Order: sequence, then structure tokens, then C-alpha cells
Amino acid sequence: MKPRNKLHHRIVDLANSLFTISNQQKQWAYRECLEHRGYATKNRVLCLDCGDTFSPQLVSRKKAVCPHCGTKLQIKESRCTTDTQTNYFAITEIVEEFQVVRNFELIARYKKGEKVRYHLHEILQYWIDPNKKVTMFGLKHYNSGHCDSWGGDMEIREEGRYYGYGGRKYDVYARKYHPDSVFKPDYKKFGINHNLKGLTFIEAIRLIPFNPKLETLLKAKQYALLEMGDSYRISNYWPSIKICLRNKYKVKDHRIYIDYLDLLKYFKKDLRNAKYVCPKNLMKEHDILMKKKREILRLEEQERNRLAILKRQENLEKARIEFIERMNKFFDLEFKKGLIKIVPLKSIDEFKKEGDILNHCVFTNEYYSKKESLILSARIQNKPIETIEISLDKLQVEQARGLNNKATKYHDQILEIINKNMPLIGAIARPKKRKKSKQLVESN
Ligand SMILES: [Zn+2]
Repeated sequence: MKPRNKLHHRIVDLANSLFTISNQQKQWAYRECLEHRGYATKNRVLCLDCGDTFSPQLVSRKKAVCPHCGTKLQIKESRCTTDTQTNYFAITEIVEEFQVVRNFELIARYKKGEKVRYHLHEILQYWIDPNKKVTMFGLKHYNSGHCDSWGGDMEIREEGRYYGYGGRKYDVYARKYHPDSVFKPDYKKFGINHNLKGLTFIEAIRLIPFNPKLETLLKAKQYALLEMGDSYRISNYWPSIKICLRNKYKVKDHRIYIDYLDLLKYFKKDLRNAKYVCPKNLMKEHDILMKKKREILRLEEQERNRLAILKRQENLEKARIEFIERMNKFFDLEFKKGLIKIVPLKSIDEFKKEGDILNHCVFTNEYYSKKESLILSARIQNKPIETIEISLDKLQVEQARGLNNKATKYHDQILEIINKNMPLIGAIARPKKRKKSKQLVESN
């Protein structure tokens, strides 16, 4: 973006007068801002810094000093022969009324047989005026998921309307600040100095002066907790965190630690007791409690299932009794014509059998619980062929279904038999009119 106002023009001018990074500062960055790795196989260790190899016998506790270049190496098991590391670091200075933060990108490319090659360039400057207004002057940040690079010229930059993948494009997290960094006394008083970790500089100057808890964490060098920023969990667990601070207990991984506090809370442990709050082996204590909780949840689940089964059995028993009480007045019915015999289903077991034989839902959909339905089974030589639902309200056939819910060739005959006998069913269903109906049937 072209400078648009007086402030922009001033910053562009001042930026052009800044010193370029010195050789000493570069050497510091190569040394302090990268991991120095050795890749080990059974037969050799590759020093990524100088590209040379040496004997695994020189390795002790995953550390070694390269006999060729003298670099202290962290040893990993790997067959890889190339590697790349990318890191940000910063140098701060005061220019006129501005606090300036200069962010650099350091890329190191490693290859077996070759000395490491560094690519170091300045990517972004923050110019912060006494009112904490931040003006950004830097390269363009290309940042879209799989691509993260800086290019173009140093220009005034603004955060776009949409923040890309990974949050704000121009909020850079410098892992380290060069020890020569100079901070305004305003910031120093809040503990913001070259040890700043866990927060970006912009986050720090915006959050810390207004958040005494974060200021306390920063001064106590609790960088892992600081990483959580201005979060309600910090506030929730503040009494426990204060115990940590009093006991000089450093939290190294805030996720595991807060998880662990959640577990302590679950088990109603004293969250102000250092015995619980400052465990010697956090991971071990965390895992013990987690296993314990998992077992409790499993037992609870088991108990819920057991109760659900009991409840189902109880309901079925109740339905059994209700069904017999409600329907036994129909149990003597039997209509016959030719080969076909029609009888009521007389128990829940019979519903189940009928449903199994004809492969329909008379049992699974609990037709035995439908208070206004009479369920009959049409049979030939005692084998079910169709199941009939009669509405006792309307005294009509609701449905008659055979195997797989289809009608059989006896369907019409079955309906005819039922319809002929409907008055009798009605007479049983409504006992008040029974006398009249009985007379009717008798007079037939
Ligand atoms: Zn080496």
C-alpha cells in the first residue's frame, strides 16, 4: 500500500534510516533461533549443521558434540538426509517516539554433505506510537493453508478484512528477541522484555497492561500459561495458579495442566493444595486420574444400560397384564369358513411369533398396546397367513397383511368373514349395547 498520510510518510522515511542487521546479530540468530539436529541411524550420525557424519558412539542421552564443527546437537533417530527449519525472531528498538519491533524470518536448509545454508530477511516492522497505535511496514504475507511466505517490497501493510488461515496475517509470533532489544519503560514495567514468550508483541502490549493476571504470569515466566492469553480458564483456576506461583512450580504444557485441574475438580480434590496442584510428575498424575475417570464413566454407562433393560422388561410385563385384562373378552372368538380359521392373538408371545412368521411389525411396533385395536390371525391348518387389525372405535378393518406385508389370495375371503362377524365384535367391544346386539345375533 502506498503511504496515505503524514504518519505513513514519516514511518517510511524513518524505516529507511534503520541499520541493517549486523553480522553479530546474524550469528546469534543462527545459533539461538534454530534447533541443531543430528539424524542418527545404526551406523552413523549426520550433523545437519555441517553435513558431515560421525560415529553413534559419540551420542549420549540423545545429545552429541559434532567432532567436525563443534556444534552441540540434539540427536533424533531418522534416515532423512535433508531438512528445513523456518523461524521468526525480532529485534526491538526505540526510534523517536516509536517503539519499533523488527521481525525477521530465518530459513535454514540442510543437506547431507553440505554446510547448512541460511536465508535471513526482514519481513515486518511494527511502529507503535505512544497511544499504542500500530502501523505495519513490511513485505506481503502470502498465507493460505499450505503456503506461508513473504514477498514483494517493504510497504505499509494493513490487516485485510478477512483473516487468513491461522488468524491475523500480520500478527507475527517471534520465538526469540535479540538480547540487544530495547523496550520503552512503559512496557518494561509490565514485564514485557526480550524474554517475551507465549504471546506476540502486539497481543502482549494490548492485553497485559489491562490484565494483572497475565502481567503476573509474564513476570513469573509462566510462558505456557501465558499462551492461553486472556481466557476464562485462567480466571477460573487462578487460585490454583497462585499456588503454582508461590511454589515456583513451572507449567510446561498448559493443555495437559488445565486438563489435570479439570480432573482434580471432577474428583473434588482440594484445588488450593500444592500436593495436588503442583505434581512432580504431571503426565503420570494426569494419566492416573484420567484412567480412573474413564472407568467411572464406563461403569455409569453399564449401569444405565442395565437399568434400561430392567425398565424395558418391566414395561413389557405391564403390557402383558394390561393386554390380557383388556382383550380377554375377545379370546373366545373363532370364525371359520372353508379352510380359513380366524382367531385373536391372545398373548404378547403370539404377537412375536406372528410377526416372526409373516415378517411384519405387529410385535416390534407393539400393536398389543394399541387400546382401540383388535388383532386377529387368519390361519390355514393353524399356520398364520394374514394378520388383521380391526379398529374397535370404527368397527372396521384397518389392515390385513400377509407375508412381508403383502395380501394373499385369501385376502378378500378373509375380509368377507370378518365383515360378516363385525356386529359380534362390536357387541363384545361395547358391552352396554350387548343385550340389543345379542338379540340381533340370536334373531339371525
Ligand atoms: Zn558438524
